[in-house]
Amino acid sequence: MPHALPRVIDEIAVAALPAAGSNGHAAVPRDPTQTRRLTELIARLKTERRAVILAHNYQEGSIQDLADFTGDSLGLARQAKATDAEVIVFCGVHFMAETAAMLCPDKTVLIPDLQAGCSLADMVTPEAIRAWRVAHPDGLVVCYVNTSAAVKAECDYCVTSTNGVQVLQSLPEDRDILFVPDFYLGSYLKAKTKRKIHLWRGYCPAHAALLPELIESLMDAHPEAEFLMHPECGCLTKQMHLADRILSTEGMVQYVNRAPGREFIVATEVGLLHRLRALYPDRRFYAASEHARCHHMNRNSLEKVAQALVSMEHVVRVEPAIAERALRPIERMLAIT
Ligand code: SF4
Repeated sequence: MPHALPRVIDEIAVAALPAAGSNGHAAVPRDPTQTRRLTELIARLKTERRAVILAHNYQEGSIQDLADFTGDSLGLARQAKATDAEVIVFCGVHFMAETAAMLCPDKTVLIPDLQAGCSLADMVTPEAIRAWRVAHPDGLVVCYVNTSAAVKAECDYCVTSTNGVQVLQSLPEDRDILFVPDFYLGSYLKAKTKRKIHLWRGYCPAHAALLPELIESLMDAHPEAEFLMHPECGCLTKQMHLADRILSTEGMVQYVNRAPGREFIVATEVGLLHRLRALYPDRRFYAASEHARCHHMNRNSLEKVAQALVSMEHVVRVEPAIAERALRPIERMLAIT
């Protein structure tokens, strides 16, 4: 465990934090000076705590800007495993921090807001998977990484949207597969791999906000733009044929780097556009919907990152008996990809 901060630094740090907003979310910095002060404070606290800050692609821009690494859930899991920092401040949602905690039992994993969950992950339970196994004793259960540790503990393989096709293609062809919890990603994987996949009916509310009519009008307005779609999108089943590329968030980042075009319509949570615009200032990016925001991801804020480092909260732990079983599908995925 890291040493406690000297009391004087602790008090200075706490005094510098703006008050939380009335909606339970920390107040969003309104001016660049405030953002700069918070960023400097976090940098100082980070050094004191020997901490690293990992941020998901959907985090607000100011968090992405100060993070040591920004990426998708697979990239963040790999970074968590590789770091020699003593503390990981995980700016993402709870299941991601759980994965980091399981991969790094010797490190302290903090999440800035304990309420930053995932609506999609909440749509499947361990009991439901056990019931499916009773009906399909030879079946394999594959979970999207967007699941709780308790659910992963019931599964055979884990996938991300980056490696789902690769993992499923590695499985025996004669086995029934249950894919949980995302219906749209599961539909995409089923179409790509031609495997016998039973689909769970879960969905991500942020990606469900991406409606076909919005995308059609954007394509009309920007005929030169390539249309990049995330496989979690609710419009996927109806508009897969319109997408130039169906890609994970990391896949989008890499694709834009090599794409000949200069304009892109991006169908995923809007946080990714901050990273794309920072990396490729000479390209134009259009959000498929400005309403595609994850309210869980947006619970984290600069203030809460600073507060997490001051008070060393909220520590994410996974019960060892659950962690041992939940790590198996994750390690199998990492071994394949
Ligand atoms: Fe979960 Fe959707 Fe938010 Fe991702 S964007 S964390 S899938 S609710």
